[in-house]
Amino acid sequence: MKTSLDHLAIFGGAPEFTELLHVGRPNIGNREKLFDRFNDILDRRWLTNHGPYVSEFEQRIADLIGVKHCIAMCNATIGLEIAFRAAGLKGEVIVPSMTFVATAHALQWQEITPVFCDIDPDTCTIDPNRVEELITPRTTGIVGVHLWSRPCDIDALEEIAERRNLKLLFDAAHAFGCSFHGKMIGNFGDAEVLSFHATKFLNSGEGGAVVTNDDELANKVRLMKNFGFEDIDKVVYIGTNGKMNELSAAMGLTSLESLEEIIAVNYRNYKCYESEIKRIPGVELKLFNESEKCNYQYIILDLDETIAGVSRDQMMDILWAENVLTRRYFYPGCHLMEPYRSYFPHAGLLLPVTNDLSQRILAMPTGTAISPGDIGKIAQIMHFVIAHSAEVREGFKSIQRTAG
Ligand SMILES: *Cc1c(COP(=O)(O)O)cnc(C)c1O
Repeated sequence: MKTSLDHLAIFGGAPEFTELLHVGRPNIGNREKLFDRFNDILDRRWLTNHGPYVSEFEQRIADLIGVKHCIAMCNATIGLEIAFRAAGLKGEVIVPSMTFVATAHALQWQEITPVFCDIDPDTCTIDPNRVEELITPRTTGIVGVHLWSRPCDIDALEEIAERRNLKLLFDAAHAFGCSFHGKMIGNFGDAEVLSFHATKFLNSGEGGAVVTNDDELANKVRLMKNFGFEDIDKVVYIGTNGKMNELSAAMGLTSLESLEEIIAVNYRNYKCYESEIKRIPGVELKLFNESEKCNYQYIILDLDETIAGVSRDQMMDILWAENVLTRRYFYPGCHLMEPYRSYFPHAGLLLPVTNDLSQRILAMPTGTAISPGDIGKIAQIMHFVIAHSAEVREGFKSIQRTAG
């Protein structure tokens, strides 16, 4: 390894990687099969509205999860909105702030107040011990988020929801293909919502699904995602347009056929990060419970500035300069984004773990576009930065001085 920082791009050298390494770079399935399906769709001229590909996709997802109903959606955000509405959520709903902003927006969009709850420092998901103190007479439900392929503490949440007569739903955008106590995610609470966005484990370009074992809820969701139509010219319910189209379903079906390969690559990358990161002081890899099924889609590092000598943001800036486009999933937390920041200016007082963690975590590139060699080089850069943290801090000062 070189002994000076000169080669690092932030000090004027060339980036370590000539191609950008993204977090969430889409995994692409077999092109031939995808194009065969596209041709079939075009020949048939059946592009949307309950076509055969959407039906097949729904059936495959339901079978894989072992859940009674899968209703495909145009995306998970609309899926969340529809699921929340169909479940009768109103008033206030308890939700973590450590999530993608869509979880909160799907509530606020229909004037349901998201009440932000702190997370458990171990699971990084909604802390059941903090949920109960947020329940008021206006509370109608709890929405857990299975963060970074890790299920919430579902047992504890189910117990609270049952005892306090609240609905329980899950944003499962990160957790398709994962299990909890051996049972697949998608079977818990009143309903769970999956995302098949391009960046997710299974992708259909844009897409999502509401999955549930509740017949009545499933029926409402089916009506709502199609303007409330029960039959031709017969609208029996309020609805919107949440339909998945045939082209997305074809993409989703094609991705499904590559799922095992994608898991294998994600797992290989995870183990590679595990052995590399172990050697870096002040940086910890968030580990998975390997006794459960997992998609291994999220590689999350926790950087302790007091040990590493550089902040998470300094590390991120340097990695970006080297074309390693790491992300702060999720920063700064929904409660610090508008409109929530203005609506609830003091929400952060109850969110110490969320605030702390959102300053420390870094999501790393993985998936089929990343090789073990890339991971080795990324680790080398990080190792080097931490070994030279004093110079890095100085360097940042001089860069800031020059910039200013
Ligand atoms: C991606 C994501 C969503 C939104 O999914 P879309 O399909 O893009 O609408 C919601 N919640 C979480 C936690 C996500 O990561």
